[in-house]
Amino acid sequence: MDLDFTPAEETFRAQVRDWLAGHVPPRLPSMDTREGFEAHRAWEADLAAARLSVVSWPEEYGGRAASLMEWLIFEEEYWASGAPGRVSQNGIFLLAPTLFAFGTPEQRARLLPRMARAEDVWAQAWSEPEAGSDLAALTSRAVRVDGGWLLHGQKTWSSRAAFASHGFGLFRTSGSRHHGLTYFLFPLDGVLVRPIAQLDGTHGFAELFFDGVFVPDDMVLGEVGQGWKIAMATTSSERGLTLRSPGRFLATADRLVSLARDADPVLRDRAARCLIDAEAYRLHTFGAVMGELGATTSLGKVFWSELDVRMHTLAMELLGPAAASTPWFDGYLFSLAGPIYAGTNEIQRNIIAERVLGLPR
Ligand SMILES: Cc1cc2nc3c(=O)[nH]c(=O)nc-3n(C[C@H](O)[C@H](O)[C@H](O)COP(=O)(O)OP(=O)(O)OC[C@H]3O[C@@H](n4cnc5c(N)ncnc54)[C@H](O)[C@@H]3O)c2cc1C
Repeated sequence: MDLDFTPAEETFRAQVRDWLAGHVPPRLPSMDTREGFEAHRAWEADLAAARLSVVSWPEEYGGRAASLMEWLIFEEEYWASGAPGRVSQNGIFLLAPTLFAFGTPEQRARLLPRMARAEDVWAQAWSEPEAGSDLAALTSRAVRVDGGWLLHGQKTWSSRAAFASHGFGLFRTSGSRHHGLTYFLFPLDGVLVRPIAQLDGTHGFAELFFDGVFVPDDMVLGEVGQGWKIAMATTSSERGLTLRSPGRFLATADRLVSLARDADPVLRDRAARCLIDAEAYRLHTFGAVMGELGATTSLGKVFWSELDVRMHTLAMELLGPAAASTPWFDGYLFSLAGPIYAGTNEIQRNIIAERVLGLPR
């Protein structure tokens, strides 16, 4: 594998680095608060104005048609610069690839440019009170009416739905289990949104209640009844590199090594191990992008989520009680959710056992 970047890639890296150096704002409030959400949206608009919010998208939708390798470079520079988390991430990294694969040209033209500028911010609505790991058990349904559908049911654990403008999720239109599910896009203003308070005092998470919410036909993504297949494309983006690029773990590992510089050798050794693992994930991803490794998103998901917990746990040990007033603490709390969201790690291990290793069910 050739690990050298091309001159064009190096130029792109330098351009991104320069722009970020001049524009990254001081630390913003949590995007799971109203104030923080708006501040993060304003940052997304700045990125979009510089055509840096969605670099890998085609130019007609606000991107730069960057290659996958350039996108990974962008991510490395982005996270190394200390730039804010991406409030639009569920739209730009999860829904958008699904729209490129399954949406109509009209849907792409209508929805993507607004998403790129964070004028619309999208929330995911898969989970239900009785359907989490077993998503095919969902009971929310859509009933056919003239010109569209009426949505009924309840979704839960929808990240930032308390402030987002739109949602996407699966509703049953016929059949049972994986059959007869349809992928709907919907504005959240017709939906009853009930925020869920979190331990850290934020309340961006929400439950969504649908009581006959009308959705026109042009907000169905893909074919009616084909929602499961389309949703699996979205979840694989969430587990895989489009949402969890190596750049963010490498940036955390670099900071961890600085934090551990004067610590005792055992802790320094653990920090070094984290850096090695973050670098391994990076190289593994480059290999996957060049088509030289048969990476699967489930393997990557278990690896990055466990590495993130290890890195933040070590930071807590290094900082002691002082950690509570640093960004490391927020990062620590969030890292604990990594083995749960995007499909729990137990489920990923089942997938690895059955589909990668071919073990019996
Ligand atoms: C920070 C965060 C953000 C989230 N954001 C969203 C979002 O935006 N949109 C959304 O729709 N959902 C979201 N979720 C919900 C998330 O997808 C679910 O929590 C997750 O899929 C697990 O579902 P559950 O909570 O119902 O747990 P359950 O499915 O009830 O699982 C409970 C436990 O049993 C284990 N388990 C279940 N089945 C099996 C099995 N077959 N084999 C082995 N172990 C099993 C699980 O691993 C878990 O440990 C988010 C969750 C978190 C923590």
